[in-house]
Amino acid sequence: MTISGKCFICGKGLRHCNESIIVKCYKCGKKEKSYIFCENDHYLCNACATETVMAKIFQTIPNIYDSNPCDIGEKLLIECGYAGNSPHVVVAVAFLLALKNLNLVTFEDVFEGMMRGVLEVGEII
Ligand SMILES: [Zn+2]
Ligand SMILES: [Zn+2]
Repeated sequence: MTISGKCFICGKGLRHCNESIIVKCYKCGKKEKSYIFCENDHYLCNACATETVMAKIFQTIPNIYDSNPCDIGEKLLIECGYAGNSPHVVVAVAFLLALKNLNLVTFEDVFEGMMRGVLEVGEII
């Protein structure tokens, strides 16, 4: 998978290195090896990046009124970016939100599905 996108902290482009270097997470300070960091040397660890994306998804959901899961998924990826395991959650949210916009389920169901997606991913790790 090609990872591309913008830095969650400053919005600059991400750089890809051929060799991994030790980087420090901007948010929690965890040090780990990575191939990817931004032009200003920002780096977010997997957990923090996922958390950031999740927060954005949470804010974006009420502003999407599409009933086609593909459109919703695309909008979520564009608006929120993706990191770590968040694409799994985006897929779940896209389908649930489509159902919600057809008045088949409620917002509570969408958020519950979103949280379940996160927990499932956590268990795999
Ligand atoms: Zn940055
Ligand atoms: Zn972190």
